[in-house]
Amino acid sequence: MRDVRELMRPSAAALEPYDPKFTPVSINLSANENSYGMPVYVYDKVMRALGDVKANRYPDPLATRLRGRLASLYGLESGQVIVGNGGDELIFNLFLAFGGGGAKVVDCPPTFSIYRLYAELCECTVADVPRDPETFAVDEDALLAEAADARITIVTSPNNPTGTLTPLAFIEELCAATDGLVLADEAYMEFAGAPSAPSAATLLDRCPNLVVLRTLSKAFALAGGRIGYVLAAPAIVSALAAVRQPYSVNSFSQAVAETVVREGARFAPTIAELCENRGILASELAKLDGLTVWPSSANFLLVRVPHAHRVWELLRDEHSILVRDFSATPGLADCLRITVGRPEECAAVVEAFIDILSLKEDEL
Ligand code: PMP
Repeated sequence: MRDVRELMRPSAAALEPYDPKFTPVSINLSANENSYGMPVYVYDKVMRALGDVKANRYPDPLATRLRGRLASLYGLESGQVIVGNGGDELIFNLFLAFGGGGAKVVDCPPTFSIYRLYAELCECTVADVPRDPETFAVDEDALLAEAADARITIVTSPNNPTGTLTPLAFIEELCAATDGLVLADEAYMEFAGAPSAPSAATLLDRCPNLVVLRTLSKAFALAGGRIGYVLAAPAIVSALAAVRQPYSVNSFSQAVAETVVREGARFAPTIAELCENRGILASELAKLDGLTVWPSSANFLLVRVPHAHRVWELLRDEHSILVRDFSATPGLADCLRITVGRPEECAAVVEAFIDILSLKEDEL
């Protein structure tokens, strides 16, 4: 038999299995999860809902009840909502349905690396419009120009890993400037302080080519349940429904998500607390010599610190704290991304940085 790689789809042949590099640590602030978990009241309801799941039956393919709940949350019709096995599946399905054949996808790095990975796997060509190297703001003029003939243009707001928000007025302008689709990825929008930062979902009436992506993984503490959703025009939702694996969203996750969405308002106190923790962590870290902290509208902070990779290792090995090392990513030299956790987790991060920054150059 030939080398297996030679038998593979050319766009997949160079890929390696995804390795999240999970290391057992006391404090995991590497994946932008919600350290608070669910409020106890919601957790109890979730457990009851799980007890009612009929596991011998296939799940409802389109998660009708969950879809209905999400639609009414946004004042939309059910046909404008589709649920996926995490936002990741919906991003993949967007490229599967609308990409291929070298279709042009535009993104704004540094940003979520999954876009390029999945776009290329689906045989799209990715054009980068780099963000401002200092502020990480989108280069609006360049993006409007690049988007004109693109199939899909992606704006992540707040952006991962920079925490940068993009004004809604610009997203609306972008939708008008392209014949293709605009994906507004709002995985972290709950941390951006609505109503001052309203969702792009409010533009759906005026922007028929807009696709808004949200997830329950972050603010709603359901990363393990794998529930994401798209809000878009019915024709776009139908296209996504046509390419999806019918049973990708299992019955257990549907039941949990229905409860979480119904009880969504009960997450408001912990979301507010995370925003408060973010402010404290940012100001504590900014006091430290040599550290740069960017403003963030998400549940993480991007920081620049000399010898970032070594600092990342010391955080892990000496302090049992895992953060995400972005120092090898273009545009993010010496950058680490720290998820905002509970107050004691944030305090441990600050203590650890103080300790590491007190080391002499030759001790690093
Ligand atoms: N978009 C962005 C910008 C993200 O950071 C993430 C999670 N890392 C996702 C989408 C997808 O999240 P999930 O698949 O957990 O819904």
